[in-house]
Amino acid sequence: MTDLNVDTPRSAALSYAAQGWPVFPCHSIGARGCSCCQPDCSSPGKHPRIARGLHAASTNRETVERWWRRWPSANVAVRTGIESGLVVIDIDPQHGGSGTMRSLIANHSPLARGPVVRTGAGGWHLLFAHPGEPIRNSAGTRLGAGIDVRGDGGYVIAPPSRHASGNLYRWNTPPEHLPRLPGWLLGMLRTPERRQSPEIREPIRIDDALSAWARVALDGEADRVRAAPNGSRNSTLNRAAFSLGQIVGAGVLDASTVEHVLTDGAIATGLGEREALLTIRSGLRAGLQHPREPRSRSSASPSAARREATVDVGLDIAP
Ligand SMILES: [Zn+2]
Repeated sequence: MTDLNVDTPRSAALSYAAQGWPVFPCHSIGARGCSCCQPDCSSPGKHPRIARGLHAASTNRETVERWWRRWPSANVAVRTGIESGLVVIDIDPQHGGSGTMRSLIANHSPLARGPVVRTGAGGWHLLFAHPGEPIRNSAGTRLGAGIDVRGDGGYVIAPPSRHASGNLYRWNTPPEHLPRLPGWLLGMLRTPERRQSPEIREPIRIDDALSAWARVALDGEADRVRAAPNGSRNSTLNRAAFSLGQIVGAGVLDASTVEHVLTDGAIATGLGEREALLTIRSGLRAGLQHPREPRSRSSASPSAARREATVDVGLDIAP
């Protein structure tokens, strides 16, 4: 990897981009808190400065220059997942992450030495090479309390960004080479999770066209959740869960898929997993009461209607 210059957010962003890690600017922490100026900001210094968030992450030098010319103190976010080749294990000692990792290591084997970031929150980011197969984001569920995983569709805040505590993220061990995830850890990240709500029915066999329609709706809602500006993330998530709950109610989509996809999207915007799950389940429950199929006129949101119109073309499944 190239020489790292993390003297300023700008130089760091350029360094990361130069070594192939897509970056994007996040809000920064100043004397009066998060630069978004929202008094109730729920992820100070961690949410995107730009509209499409991690989807706009770039390795292009000019793009990166332009962002940090505009916001010189912007915190630096690095996209994780297949795009950067990174999987980050995020250990939060305040939620028991150190103990969880100690017992994982005691029960399996030590982790290969690799790049380590000391986070501004007093935790650690351990960087690994992406294995080339899908790695989902998770927060405290997959590996245990206090350990988050940032993989596909995720991002991490990188040095020298400033945390809400005022502390900077620092490289403890700089990123010279990325170790492979040990087999046991990869196995835990790979195992499908079952997080099905009790009231949710099993996935239903559906025809391809209907399934395609549901998929478009699912992707559209997930994109919207990822793009939601700070302050409306929870309400956007709730609306998305409601809208998809209507499709679950019609038996066209299964609830655990909706939960997975929306939770990923919510984590990507900086919402906590547990908070997100509560919102998603409540939205799903409400949506289940009002089932909706393609060409249903009951759909309240114009964008939902637009999505339906888009996919109606190839679907001859009107009621
Ligand atoms: Zn903010």
